[in-house]
Formats: sequence, structure tokens, C-alpha cells
Amino acid sequence: MTELLKSVLIANRGEIALRVIRACKELGIKSILAYSEGDRDSLPVKLADQAVCIGPANAAKSYNSPELLVSAAMAFKADAVHPGYGFLSEKANFVKMLEEENIGFVGPTSEHIAQMGDKIQAKRIARAAGVPTVPGSDGVVSEPDEAFQIAKETGFPLLIKAAAGGGGRGMRVVESEDTLERDLTEIMSEAKTAFNDPSVYIERYLTDIRHIEVQVIADGMNAIALGERDCTSQRRNQKLIEEAPSPVIDDELRSGLQEAAINLCKEVKYRNAGTIEFVFDNVENKYYFIEMNTRIQVEHPVTEMVTGVDLIKEQLRIASGIPLSFSQDEISIRGHAIECRINAEDPNEDFAPRPGKIEKYRAPGGFGVRMDTHIETGYTIPPFYDSMVGKLICWAETRDEAIARTLRALDELTVDGVITTGPFQAMLLDSEEFRSGHFNTGYVAKLLESKSELPTDQ
Ligand code: ADP
Ligand code: ADP
Ligand code: MG
Repeated sequence: MTELLKSVLIANRGEIALRVIRACKELGIKSILAYSEGDRDSLPVKLADQAVCIGPANAAKSYNSPELLVSAAMAFKADAVHPGYGFLSEKANFVKMLEEENIGFVGPTSEHIAQMGDKIQAKRIARAAGVPTVPGSDGVVSEPDEAFQIAKETGFPLLIKAAAGGGGRGMRVVESEDTLERDLTEIMSEAKTAFNDPSVYIERYLTDIRHIEVQVIADGMNAIALGERDCTSQRRNQKLIEEAPSPVIDDELRSGLQEAAINLCKEVKYRNAGTIEFVFDNVENKYYFIEMNTRIQVEHPVTEMVTGVDLIKEQLRIASGIPLSFSQDEISIRGHAIECRINAEDPNEDFAPRPGKIEKYRAPGGFGVRMDTHIETGYTIPPFYDSMVGKLICWAETRDEAIARTLRALDELTVDGVITTGPFQAMLLDSEEFRSGHFNTGYVAKLLESKSELPTDQ
């Protein structure tokens, strides 16, 4: 029988580092946390079996340095590296370096990352697997003439997207042909600066959509779909609230989505956890593949709550070479789960980050309430990283009960000393649109326009 990894180096910080440490502990795997000077006093450093400072707070010289992380993994003789999300989690060159040193990676192969990290190539693979994609260019568009040609098929508005984009960045909506040439040039140079790759492509811009994604877990032989997550609550293409299951996906649509996701994984013999993202057109009731994320995602807990599968443990088992221990038939969706991202930001200052010292933290609790966070009373949120400080995940039998429970838990949550988006999230959950289940990716922006002042906890 294949044995579990003995030790894992965690190349991340914050709540996801803690999430991985916890899974390692439960499996008896030694957790080694690689942290920066900016995170010296953080909870993950206290709870990991071992912790090593790899560099200064500046992520370029710590969390984002492949060389430093590979040396740390070698020095501490880690069997594998867990990258979390963000940072090096989708950097093919980093994974290649690990492969060359014979260090495991809790994720897919460097080849999978390279294939799927390029959104143009990912769309090609999807098409080859028979998965519908958003109408648009076949490949890279670099000349205005090509753009005008494609615009004839997509119509306006259209969307120019960076092949290497991510995190809601590297996208521009073009309203008419008047600005097409200028927009193309500008977004290409922005993409070059931000992602070191000027390649862009064009898609029809769908105006009444939901974001639906399928969680997959695969061992190279088999791929299993764990239902969908609905991440339609977004601001500037960034997710705010995620839920599972989606309030608009019925069994028939779900089977179609899951089959598409599994076919895509089989096309490349995918291994480990992944997410296949789709936009769902409310008008035509059709879904289209947009991209694949080859890592664990921020919102993975909602899937865990409705399936009972611990995704991080599964990732660790697969990285150990252990085949999936369950089949598609054994997966069923029970109840409803909602996740709110809690960011240290001021909603009234255009969501500007508000790092600082937490004078008092009180966690919400009770049946069906899960708070994934690294914050505690007295902790100082460093200004160097993402402003997400935790995730509140609530489960209940029905969507209405899950909303009531999340509102109750948000009310209990106390983070004194900094401003958080907790009360703003409560406002979204309590809105008519969210409660009805019928909304699109534009509802948050509309709601924001209608309010002169947003609720905060300060
Ligand atoms: P990222 O890599 O930044 O996550 P995605 O391609 O996943 O980028 O798109 C992020 C979000 O942008 C989607 O969730 C959706 O809200 C919006 N989006 C992407 N493609 C389209 C499209 N063709 N039409 C309308 N909205 C889109
Ligand atoms: P998803 O996992 O749903 O696609 P995002 O694209 O918002 O969500 O998540 C990836 C982003 O998370 C990265 O681009 C980065 O900005 C941010 N990130 C990376 N590491 C952390 C962390 N430890 N805590 C919070 N946010 C992080
Ligand atoms: Mg995406």
C-alpha cells in the first residue's frame, strides 16, 4: 500500500496556511511552514509543527520566490510542497523546479499548469473535449484588423482578456468599435506589465450571467465532480459570496456541467484538485467554459460542507500517490452552504485596505458555523498582503436557513480595531436579489450605486 507523505512544506500564509496545517495534523503529516518576516507573529507560525522564516515581508522576496521555497523544501527535507492559492500555486516554472529536485507538489503537474494557465490554450482543450466555450477569437489577437473581424461575430460589447490574467484583473469591456483599436493596444501593454505576457483574446461580453464553477478531484486515472459552486456575487469580477449548490442549477444542468468538467479533466489526465469555471447565460439558460483553476480555491469550504469531503486531505492523499477512495456514485449534495469573504477594507472608501491591530476578536459559533481564519485578539494584520482576513462558512438544510444562519453568525462576529466587510456582506445577503436567488454578476454594483453610505463595523 502507498504511504502518506511524511512531511509537507506550506508555501503560503493566512487562513489557507492554517487550513493546510490542520489537515496535515489530522493525517499525521508533519507540517513545515515557510513564512515571511511580516508574518512572524501569525497563528500559522504558532500552530505548524515547524516554521522557517524564508525572507522579508515583501512577497517577491519570500512567498513569490521559487528559488527560496525550493531551497527551504530541500533544507527541511520536505516530501512535498502545498502552495495554497495565489502566490506560486499556479506557476509552472516553480512546479518544474520541484519536479527536477524530486520534491512532490500538492497539485497537478507543471505541464497541467502550463496548459491551463494560458486561458487561450485552456479554451482550445475545452473545445477538443466537447465543452462549450464563450464565442470569440480562436487564439491570440494582436492586430486591430483581426479584432474588427472577430467583433463582427461577437458583436458589442465584447471583452478583451489577457491569456495570463487572473484574480479578476486583465480584462476590459469594449462598448463599441470606436475604442476597439485603442483598447486593444492598452490592454496588451497592461497585460505585458502585469503578467509579463501581452497575449490577449476576445470573447463576447455576456451581460446577464452567473458565475458557476465545478469542483473536481482527480488522481490521473479517475476524475470526480463534487457539484457546483455559485460565485455570482462579485464586485469588479472578484468574488464576494459563494454558495453551493447554485439556486438556479437543476439536476439536468448539474449533470451536464459535471460531465463537461470531467471530460475536460480526462482530456489532459488531470491530477489533484481543480476548478472548472463557467459563465451561465441567464437569457439562454446555457453555460460556457471560461477557465480552469489548477489549485485549491478560496471558496472550497462550501463544497466540503455539502459533500462531506475534506478537499485538502484528498489533495494530500493524491499527492502521496493514493488513488481516490470514493466513486462518483458515492457523492451526494446535502443541504446548502454559504461563504462570505471577510476583508479588512473600508466599503465607504472604495474598499481600500484597512490593515492594523485587532483589539478584540470574537468568533461566531453554533451549529453549522465554520470560521476559517488566522486572526486573533492582539494580532496585527500586516499591510503587505491580500486584505482577506477570514471566511465565514455556514451550512443548513435549506438555502433560506443558510442565509438566516449566516446573518446570525455575521452579527456575532466581532473584529474591533480595524474595519471589515462583515456588515457589508450582511447587507448583500439580506438584499431582495440575493434572497430571491435570482440575480446576476451585476447586482452588487447596482446595489452599491443605490446607497450613499454602506454599513461597517466601526
Ligand atoms: P480570472 O482569471 O480573473 O478569474 P475569469 O476568466 O475567470 O478571470 O473571469 C472572471 C469573471 O469575469 C467571471 O466570473 C465573470 O463574472 C466575468 N467574465 C468572464 N468572462 C466573461 C464574459 N465573456 N462575459 C461576461 N463576463 C465575463
Ligand atoms: P478563487 O480561489 O476563488 O479563484 P481568487 O482568484 O480571488 O479566488 O483567489 C486568488 C487570489 O487570492 C490571489 O490572486 C491573491 O490575490 C489572493 N491570495 C493569495 N494568497 C492569499 C492568502 N493567503 N490569503 C488571502 N488571499 C490570498
Ligand atoms: Mg476565474
